[in-house]
Amino acid sequence: MLLSAIFQALHLSVPEPVHDIDIQEIIIDTRKIVNATYAIFIALNGNNRAGHQYLENAYNKGIRHFIVAQPVDSDLYPDAVFLYVANTLDALQQIGRANRLKYDYPVIGITGSNGKTIVKEWLYELLSQCAPYNQNAGPVRSPKSYNSQIGIPLSLWLMQSENSIGIFEAGISQPGEMAKAEAMMRPDIGIITNIGDAHSEGFDNKAQKINEKLLLFTHAKLLIYGIDNPDLQAGVQALNEARIAQGTQPLDLFTWSYREEATLRILDTTVAGPYTHIHALYQGQDIHLAIPYTDKAYIENAIHCWCTLLHLGIAAEQIASLMTRLHPVAMRLQLVEGINNCTLINDSYNSDYTSLQIALDFLNQQKQHGKKTIILSDILQIKKNHEQFYQKVAALINQKGIDRLIGIGKNMRQHQEAFAAFPQIEQVFFDNTEAFLQNFSTSDFTNETILLKGARDFEFEKIEAILEEKKHTTVMEVDLSAMHSNLKVYQKMLRPGVKLMAMVKAFSYGTGSYEIASLLQYAGVDYLTVAYLDEGIALRKSGITLPIMVMSPELGSYEQMISWKIEPEIFSLQSLENFIKIAQQKDSSAYPIHIKLDTGMHRLGFNEEELPLLISILNSTHHIEVKSIFSHLAGSDEASFDSFTQLQAERYTRMSDQLLAALPYQPIRHLCNTSAISRFPDLQFDMVRLGIGLYGVDANKATQDQLQNVGILKTTIAQIRTLKAGETVGYSRRGTLYQDSTVATVSIGYADGYFRDFGNGKGGMMIHGMFAPTLGSICMDMCMLDITGIPDVKVGDAVTVFGPDLPVSRLAGWADTIPYEIMTSVSQRVKRIYTNE
Ligand SMILES: *Cc1c(COP(=O)(O)O)cnc(C)c1O
Repeated sequence: MLLSAIFQALHLSVPEPVHDIDIQEIIIDTRKIVNATYAIFIALNGNNRAGHQYLENAYNKGIRHFIVAQPVDSDLYPDAVFLYVANTLDALQQIGRANRLKYDYPVIGITGSNGKTIVKEWLYELLSQCAPYNQNAGPVRSPKSYNSQIGIPLSLWLMQSENSIGIFEAGISQPGEMAKAEAMMRPDIGIITNIGDAHSEGFDNKAQKINEKLLLFTHAKLLIYGIDNPDLQAGVQALNEARIAQGTQPLDLFTWSYREEATLRILDTTVAGPYTHIHALYQGQDIHLAIPYTDKAYIENAIHCWCTLLHLGIAAEQIASLMTRLHPVAMRLQLVEGINNCTLINDSYNSDYTSLQIALDFLNQQKQHGKKTIILSDILQIKKNHEQFYQKVAALINQKGIDRLIGIGKNMRQHQEAFAAFPQIEQVFFDNTEAFLQNFSTSDFTNETILLKGARDFEFEKIEAILEEKKHTTVMEVDLSAMHSNLKVYQKMLRPGVKLMAMVKAFSYGTGSYEIASLLQYAGVDYLTVAYLDEGIALRKSGITLPIMVMSPELGSYEQMISWKIEPEIFSLQSLENFIKIAQQKDSSAYPIHIKLDTGMHRLGFNEEELPLLISILNSTHHIEVKSIFSHLAGSDEASFDSFTQLQAERYTRMSDQLLAALPYQPIRHLCNTSAISRFPDLQFDMVRLGIGLYGVDANKATQDQLQNVGILKTTIAQIRTLKAGETVGYSRRGTLYQDSTVATVSIGYADGYFRDFGNGKGGMMIHGMFAPTLGSICMDMCMLDITGIPDVKVGDAVTVFGPDLPVSRLAGWADTIPYEIMTSVSQRVKRIYTNE
């Protein structure tokens, strides 16, 4: 959009003379600047980040166009253009709306409690393969799940004249937001996926929530929805009655139902292997399709896509053939260990400019040492202006600091000139995947992070297969976006100015090390804490620059600690004196240390009586400086200990006040761990220490409900047998069968961290969404499950040990322990795989 058009969209007069340029990117995060010359920075005031504080940073990175809501000293930014507005979020929304209104191709708006992103991604995938929507640049859609008040305008901004149809999602968390979404998006076709209980916080009741969601379709012509939900049905009827009363055209309805007459009447669904076959009646015809899913929610998502494609006039046979191939794990970036100490990011499911950008950002959040390589196929979506397009891709790859490009496909090869403009990028091109594989040698890939980004036709899974380290059957999947979302839940709870220290001790509660720390560093936490020095050094070696505190600094490791800029927790006079000695030897000045006070936990820390001596030592040296003063609560998660928590807080306040009064500088104060953050907001002081909450567990129910599951421990079935009643299973003949049974042996045992205590039916796992109890004792590397009555189970099928449908807290209950122990017990031999939306 031209700069002058942006002035107009914001109702600002265009200054004379203006150097009008084509603004191609909106930047709200200075870490994501690609081509600063053609970008505009909007200073949004987020929850924990005031955009106005980043003006200088943006300017230094080359940005010259800014939208701000606070006065700026323009002398500091000599050649910059500032657009002053009352509210920068409103401005972003006005720009999104102005861009959307430029185009008259159809826009599909999707809302609902669940399934929005999947329906959107599937429609994108399906319509990209159907005429006439596959013409030119094809459909345009919201990236990832950009459906918020910020995400929607950023999505609409991506619309261009070359697109054929827009597919966007809208989410709401409180009343009033949907009217704004509607004003920006103006969908022609609406889809409402379903109404669950998610995000109900801001609403009085379900009807209010439904009515709010339906506001997205105020100007739509058609609505697609399932009528089996009576509340939704009532809401839509009321909406149309209101339209008729106002003299406006009622919404056309494309309905579907399992139970009654509807535009698409579902006659039956049957599961066969991994597929669900769905028969339906549409315009008097029997139609049918099969999708590679059996889960109820996915079937509903598929039906919404089916309705949409039918409405758009795509032939039923073509829909059926496309939908059998719906991609199993949409929109996930997978991070796995590769050969020769490489890290592999697999994103070979869609190929377009926006998803390339997202994948490159993800790559840059990873381990910072070693080379960055991308294996990139032709981007098939582009139908014209290839040269210009590949120049843009080349500039992006260069901006993101890629060291090596392996281009695969005729188109890439034909436009390799575009990449030659960046000779510092090592580059090689192949006609197709086969040609690459013939030339492949494992020694070409060592110590690097490799992004695999290709259109599906290029079958990059063949490349993945040779680059991936041998697969173990038991893996822990760690969902980095869920963790980021959990972090945001706590960031929102912090009082203004309160810092956040993230606890990444014990291999980040079992989930990983640098992968987690990189995410946290990227997400803006202030401090990291490890238990032992070697964990800290490992983080430094992988490029973590955040301050790191170590809680159990061993005597004799101080020197190394200082070389790696890692800061000790000091809890006794002896450790203080020893540390000062080393700091002096290393000629350190004001080296940061952290003072731990014992206020009732009675584990580590200074007593009140020791404070006078502590103060005199601290004040007698310039080699160290107290960076923070803290203490740990013994029972912040239990209401029965609340008065003890208050007592600890009083002691902490008194003791830390004494230190603050005696020190000539201001250390940071912190007391709260996870459960205290929401239960005792008054005790947040200057910083909080967030541990288990990041990983998805909080003792406070209201907080727990907002958290997402982070880790999924999965294994597979090695063998299945049927046994007669009276047989026994496992060591010491512990598992007696009282009926004829089907028994599955799965590849996880106590050496993997699956407690022996879970045996003999005390515990169990999920197979195909159903619970299968353990049979007999848990063995070292395996155990047996009773799968009698669970249909269609095969050798090789995935089994969930813990995950969203079987929370860690449930396993903890079986063994009478706490989630912390279950999580940190998963052994190091279990491979961690990282996923990101
Ligand atoms: C582990 C730990 C925390 C974090 O506790 P959570 O309950 O996991 O939030 C905080 N402070 C100290 C001193 C710890 O050892």
